[in-house]
Amino acid sequence: LAGNITELLLSRIRDVEDYPEQGVMFKDITPLLADPEAFTALVDALAGIAVSSGATKIVGLEARGFILGAPVAVRAGLGFIPVRKAGKLPGATLRQAYELEYGSAEIEVHAEDLSAGDRVMVVDDVLATGGTAEASLQLIRRAGAEVAGLAVLMELGFLGGRARLEPALRGAPLEAV
Ligand code: AMP
Repeated sequence: LAGNITELLLSRIRDVEDYPEQGVMFKDITPLLADPEAFTALVDALAGIAVSSGATKIVGLEARGFILGAPVAVRAGLGFIPVRKAGKLPGATLRQAYELEYGSAEIEVHAEDLSAGDRVMVVDDVLATGGTAEASLQLIRRAGAEVAGLAVLMELGFLGGRARLEPALRGAPLEAV
């Protein structure tokens, strides 16, 4: 992406120290969302990544992956599929557990939303440890679909998410705008 766009986007992310707990630098994207020029540039960039990957569907990860993934899907002319925290989807689901720093969590997708022949691009705002993204890739594969890639606004490189995701990506691209 053109350097000035990346700069615009990064300038609209607010660093919040010690949120939601001590020692965490939280990347707050709400200033970016509130700026129509930056939000549009981000959606266009992510949609470009999705289209060039040959994706047929967009998966957004709750909750900020919904805010970004839904307009990306519309822009790219693709369907949007929510991957939610367990217990929120009313239909038959596939569920995947994953480890957090303290404890574990579960995410779900409607089983009927993904099937063989789909190529899925996962969208989220921040790649941190990669645990959530890894579980989403496992869900997509368990549904019989193919992974087109993972596209995020930014990557917190020091947390090692990219390395953790490498086996689950199986060569599919991980792109940060
Ligand atoms: P992960 O550790 O990659 O599984 O991160 C899980 C989710 O938490 C991602 O969807 C991110 O949106 C969010 N997240 C984790 N760390 C941060 C952070 N420092 N700032 C903003 N969001 C974060």
